[in-house]
Amino acid sequence: MESIYNKSLSDLEEYFVNMGEKKYKATQVFEWLYAKRVTSFDEMTNIKNSIIARLKQDFYIDTLLIKKIEEDAEVNKYLFELNDKALVESVLMMHDYGKSLCISSQVGCNMGCKFCESGRLKKVRNLTASEMILQIMMIEKEIGARIGHIVIMGIGEPFDNFDNIVKFIEIANHAKGLQIGSRHITISTCGLVPKILEFKDLPYQVNLAISLHAPTNEIRNKIMPINKVYPIEQLMDAVRQYLAKTNRRVTFEYILLDGVNDSVEDAHKLCDLVEGINCYINLIPYNETNHLEFKRSKKEIILKFYDIIKRRNINVTIRREFGSKISAACGQLRSKKEDV
Ligand code: SAH
Repeated sequence: MESIYNKSLSDLEEYFVNMGEKKYKATQVFEWLYAKRVTSFDEMTNIKNSIIARLKQDFYIDTLLIKKIEEDAEVNKYLFELNDKALVESVLMMHDYGKSLCISSQVGCNMGCKFCESGRLKKVRNLTASEMILQIMMIEKEIGARIGHIVIMGIGEPFDNFDNIVKFIEIANHAKGLQIGSRHITISTCGLVPKILEFKDLPYQVNLAISLHAPTNEIRNKIMPINKVYPIEQLMDAVRQYLAKTNRRVTFEYILLDGVNDSVEDAHKLCDLVEGINCYINLIPYNETNHLEFKRSKKEIILKFYDIIKRRNINVTIRREFGSKISAACGQLRSKKEDV
């Protein structure tokens, strides 16, 4: 038995064909699940009883429990309890261009970035595709509206859960699934090089964001342990290969940490690093956490850093801040309720 939300349309087509049934039954089931949003197989009235009985044997239609909702002006944070009682969070942001949901991909995280709160709980397990799909569906039900944009930037390293992420994208993006345009889905990674290379060959036009956060190995090694496995040269080489294959602009995320990576020299080194790469740099004012050794760069330093990049004709933005009041900002999400 497994969740039916783990199955892509082609998985279900194969399931029906193996059963000696017509492929289009899969489309019918998908319509019940994602267009009509039924919560039991019995509601699938155009499907014959013998098939309903088989479906009930093989799958369940599950839900996630929304344990807590915190609301702020333009952002809501949702704490989910999964079926094994594990906890993850999602953050809904109301942008000018519509609603965007930041979802979690793992319970805990093993990447150990020194400035990030989410990694305090080591990875307990990967989320299944269904648990990622259900974060969206439960919140859509709760707010009574559709969500147009997804960022996979909550708790976890999505490329450390590659197969489930790919399945999730397939279902979220499908015209008979959640219908979220691939260009409206962004996946953010701390830089798992082999997975970036694998990802470039997939047939999805999903946006890729790289958590760079430092212009040199010396600095990056200090704040992101993954850099010791895949140093900056390898990471940039993977990004170049990704671009050569997909021709899709990448985003480099760069948190500005007071006295760590925010000097004038760092700004120039960052520009040198990305020179000639079709990208934009997203500067992120650090959201302070219990990692007290890290502080947010001062406002004038952030602006100066921005100006240097701008003057070198590289696309750059400063990330708009959301949700720091309710600890819903980047790097503040956690898996343990006692800590929320
Ligand atoms: N593991 C993935 C996705 C989750 S983190 C990744 O590393 O990209 C999403 C983004 O928030 C990353 O860029 C991460 O480095 C950043 N982040 C982590 N802690 C933060 C903090 N306290 N303030 C601002 N951004 C933070």
